[in-house]
Amino acid sequence: MKRILVAGAGGFIAGHLVKELIKKGNSVRAVDIKPLNEWYQISEEADNLVLDLRLRENSYRAVNGCNEVFNLAADMGGMGFIENNKAACMISVLINTHLLLAAKECGINRFFYASSACVYNGEKQTDPNNPGLKESDAYPALAEDGYGWEKLFSERMCRHFSEDFGLTTRVARFHNVYGPHGTYDGGREKAPAAICRKVIDAQQTGKKEIIIWGDGHQTRSFMYIEDCIKGIQDIMYSNINEPLNLGSSEMVSINQLVDIVEEIAGYKMERKYDLNAPKGVRGRNSENTLIRKYLGWEPSIPLKKGMKKTFDWIKEEMINEAKEIKGVNRFNK
Ligand code: NAD
Repeated sequence: MKRILVAGAGGFIAGHLVKELIKKGNSVRAVDIKPLNEWYQISEEADNLVLDLRLRENSYRAVNGCNEVFNLAADMGGMGFIENNKAACMISVLINTHLLLAAKECGINRFFYASSACVYNGEKQTDPNNPGLKESDAYPALAEDGYGWEKLFSERMCRHFSEDFGLTTRVARFHNVYGPHGTYDGGREKAPAAICRKVIDAQQTGKKEIIIWGDGHQTRSFMYIEDCIKGIQDIMYSNINEPLNLGSSEMVSINQLVDIVEEIAGYKMERKYDLNAPKGVRGRNSENTLIRKYLGWEPSIPLKKGMKKTFDWIKEEMINEAKEIKGVNRFNK
């Protein structure tokens, strides 16, 4: 039985990963900085630890005794968070640095790093009709300020730990991941969850208007969590040394994403566009030639299908939350 460290396990993607690794018969050590009562999912079978992995001794404690490491811990969020918290995003470099050092010292067999489409050169993302970002489009480097530069630097550190010290490292560049058990309010949420929340809230309170960040023509692709979890494991256990896109190539505009959510809800609203809100790059999509070549597979769960599951989960959470807050119904505020 392998013993696997999953860093960032109290968060969205790593919470799902822990469940999957346990299901496959692994022994998992799950670590996050958040107190346990704030973890999105808890697997009782895991060794659940609350540690700040920015500190070297904590990273060593987390890694020691494990065979493999998945690093999904980062101080991150959607555009609203990363545009306004650049220094905090860059400090996540300490997590990956200390985990890599501990992995080298503790003789870890394989190390996975969760990178992002935010590493890509901004000049290749100025047109909403983005043809898809190829892995080589990360250079010459002009990453998303703060968050993207940290990801690019940490990717390179993985590469050099591999070249110089023989540590087997794997890097996936995630393109917007969504699904149940993700952040949907509080300021760190991303577009799919934020739009679901806004539509549900409007439907429950009879609001007739929705505020959309930007002009709605900006484009993105969104990967459902099940595809992400499969891709993470396939990349980890492959022999691919270079960073690989892990994203859907089903590109939509934010207006089209709102259409999908309105259709699921059966509720239409007048759209108001906030042109001063953080909006990120103009057009982004995942180019999947390399992943198809290496793995014979690419993320392909249709957006409508994934969004229906996500919408239903967020709606249930919001209704439960409203019931739990005694005397305060969030829909009547
Ligand atoms: P998340 O915020 O839900 O999870 C990240 C977790 O890391 C959080 O629970 C957080 O508490 C934890 N963390 C932060 N600082 C820590 C520290 N010092 N020590 C220990 N734990 C710490 O985010 P997510 O969406 O699950 O993302 C997981 C990874 O994937 C991150 O590295 C993120 O940058 C990357 N990524 C995510 C997306 C996406 O669309 N969700 C896209 C690209 C890349």
